[in-house]
Amino acid sequence: MAMSPEAKMQFLFTLRSKGVTEARTLQAMEKVDRGDFVKGIFAERAYEDMPLPIACGQTISQPSVVGLMTQALNVQPRDKVLEVGTGSGYQAAILSQLARRVYTVDRYPRLVREAQSVFDRSGIVNITAMSTDGSFGLPDQAPFDRILVTAAAEDPPGPLLAQLKTGGIMVLPVGQSDAVQSLIKVTRLEQGFDYEELRAVRFVPLVEGMGQE
Ligand code: SAH
Repeated sequence: MAMSPEAKMQFLFTLRSKGVTEARTLQAMEKVDRGDFVKGIFAERAYEDMPLPIACGQTISQPSVVGLMTQALNVQPRDKVLEVGTGSGYQAAILSQLARRVYTVDRYPRLVREAQSVFDRSGIVNITAMSTDGSFGLPDQAPFDRILVTAAAEDPPGPLLAQLKTGGIMVLPVGQSDAVQSLIKVTRLEQGFDYEELRAVRFVPLVEGMGQE
């Protein structure tokens, strides 16, 4: 499905009004069609600023939250990025416009398969999608310049902190899964980490182990 010019203008206007103002992030979100990542009866609502259901009982995040997280991650063109929580693949597709290479992992093999087929159809070649438990990161490909987690853990997982380069940035929601969570930005310093709280968010929980579908 292609975004009509009117829908695209409205979509970008809403993003800006919610604080997504960085030019590269807006360009990436203009280019990647969210309609490609939403299936069935929800497809017609793809350009509304709402989270929507996807397979395996998961959700595609709200576009303005995707934009704010992307902006906070401050991805550079040479970066190697890890995303934990592929879901629909929408966030990974946006990161792929900004980074050299994106690794994205999900505990549901079905979601990884379906996201991969959208990447293929869209001609996106710099994403590697894998089904694995992302709470352990991706040790074979570490360290990463940037890590984005799109499911909420109680605390930043130790393996992910360990797989961040010095000067690297990780953005993730933390908190109890059924309560309001905080989106935080973690920067790895020469020694230790800097933590900045960005805003309240609500994500599905980061769950250990593989999914059954
Ligand atoms: N970024 C996605 C939305 C993610 S929803 C998008 O753009 O559509 C959160 C995803 O995190 C779900 O698909 C869920 O299966 C996944 N997830 C939860 N715990 C995980 C874990 N331990 N490892 C990998 N993926 C996980």
